[in-house]
Amino acid sequence: MKTVQDYIRTIPDFPKKGIQFRDVTTLFADPRGFRMAVDQLLHPFMGAPIDLVIGLEARGFILGGAVAHQLGKGFVPVRKKGKLPGKTIEQAYALEYGEAVVELHDDAIKAGQRVLIVDDLLATGGTAEAGIKLVERLGGVVAGCAFVVDLPDLGGRKRLEDMGHAVHVLCEYE
Ligand code: IMP
Repeated sequence: MKTVQDYIRTIPDFPKKGIQFRDVTTLFADPRGFRMAVDQLLHPFMGAPIDLVIGLEARGFILGGAVAHQLGKGFVPVRKKGKLPGKTIEQAYALEYGEAVVELHDDAIKAGQRVLIVDDLLATGGTAEAGIKLVERLGGVVAGCAFVVDLPDLGGRKRLEDMGHAVHVLCEYE
């Protein structure tokens, strides 16, 4: 039987030379692959006390929306700066060169609500950590973080686990 990893395509030298881009669009496009990924992502959290699912822009929206639907919970987006229409809080994080800023509506989470954070891929963990900080600044509690792909050499999983968070991944690439 095929695994989730079998549906993921690797594109060499994207977005720049030397990077092996793990392309999950082929996973999303396959009905069996997509269902398998969503089912496996939410599996550890079925029956767990979760109030909301957070998706990180942009592929986290596709996965997080499906996970939220399956869990019967609401979905909240963490977006790149300037995209959300209401009042927001923002969080900067480091990129390889420079920094990026993500935002969350300031009324999207109520204090004490438990959230599951979803994205396609965990690399350095900088994007996920920025999402976690936004949730925690509104008084939310991160119940877990779920990713389809982990790149363990880049240390993201250790970074999030060292912060005390439960990290669930479906496959790894060296
Ligand atoms: P991090 O912040 O270094 O953990 O990078 C993770 C973010 O970059 C996620 O939002 C991913 O969608 C994106 N990303 C980095 N590398 C890849 C890749 O090879 N495939 C798909 N997304 C990637």
